[in-house]
Amino acid sequence: MRDNALELAILPGDGIGMEITKPCVELVQIALRRAGEPEAVEKWLEAGAGAYTKLGSALPAETIDGCRNADAILLAAMGDPEVRYPDGTEIIPQIDLRFELDLYAGVRPVRSVPGINGPLADPCGNELDFVLIRESTEGLFASVGKGTRDEDHATDTQVITRKGTARVCEFAFKLAQQRKSRGHLGEVTSVDKANVFKSMAFWRDVFDDVSEGYTDVSKRYGYVDAVAMEMVRRPWIYDVMVTENMYGDILSDLAAGLIGGLGMAPSADIGDEHAVFQPCHGSAPDIAGTGKANPTAMFLSGAMMLEWLAIEKGNENYGRAALFLRSAVDDAFADGALVSTERGGSAGVVEISQAVEKALATLQDNDPRLA
Ligand code: NAD
Repeated sequence: MRDNALELAILPGDGIGMEITKPCVELVQIALRRAGEPEAVEKWLEAGAGAYTKLGSALPAETIDGCRNADAILLAAMGDPEVRYPDGTEIIPQIDLRFELDLYAGVRPVRSVPGINGPLADPCGNELDFVLIRESTEGLFASVGKGTRDEDHATDTQVITRKGTARVCEFAFKLAQQRKSRGHLGEVTSVDKANVFKSMAFWRDVFDDVSEGYTDVSKRYGYVDAVAMEMVRRPWIYDVMVTENMYGDILSDLAAGLIGGLGMAPSADIGDEHAVFQPCHGSAPDIAGTGKANPTAMFLSGAMMLEWLAIEKGNENYGRAALFLRSAVDDAFADGALVSTERGGSAGVVEISQAVEKALATLQDNDPRLA
């Protein structure tokens, strides 16, 4: 270990969490070495339904401290439908962490991996590349733990603030600017329900205010119900979408379905000080322990983490490590022979991990994708 080694907080969580985390961390370490960097220091931390049952806390204070002190946080999945608080809701430390560390931008890239055909008949559906940004600290989720319920009546209140909306819209417009410089459309869509809810009309006004600072980026609006339909009919029209927490929660699973399933969909929750990288899926208790899980979303989340670290630390080698990992995932699936169990094939954690590791080992240093 050298002094400049990264320190990673690693939270495997529950269900398939540990199964997909171990190979992911191994691949991240290999990618770092190939990029000429020392291996990262691993801090494995407890959180989730298992931690709640064992320790009485789903997100122990030591885990929060470990996350705060790390350079980046890699999280697999948390939750067990059998483990609930007395009010009937599930433990959700992965969401608590977003509030705790103020991780306001939920970034869900929707990129087709070559060799994996999505469910759409139109061939454009196999070449998707857009990003859904989900506001992650307020919206309907501001009501978590605060809703009311009696015999006949229950409420959860949606909260939209100027600060919360402005900062996530800024994030979306900046991302569209960067993507435009790489040949993408350079457009942000506000996904809202400004025709019905005051809170959403307010959201759209703030979106418009922010857009004035980005005259080189175009904008469009979509009501969430219509956008859900367009995401099935012609999702390739989108570049960057920005939306409220709950709409983003639902649409990001829809988006995962477009690129081959939850096992293919990575994500990041990014704030000004910290960032968590995790697959879009949950702990999949129905397949936990069977080896059937697809670890690809976890690997691609690891690549997103390295990409973010490159910018945060100003170290191009981390960006190169990210490209190694992402290109290896693409190569592993490219010929169409590797088919995960969620897509009707037989490849699970071991087969997919080995295929990506092999692809990483055979990737040439002068591969144009690494430039
Ligand atoms: P889920 O995402 O765990 O599973 C939904 C379906 O997708 C299941 O059939 C599952 O087998 C499949 N699936 C998910 N990931 C897969 C993968 N990598 N490879 C192959 N198949 C995969 O959602 P759920 O069943 O609604 O929730 C299960 C638990 O996870 C609950 O306790 C829930 O609260 C929790 N959860 C956690 C997160 C998170 O940690 N970010 C997100 C969603 C749900």
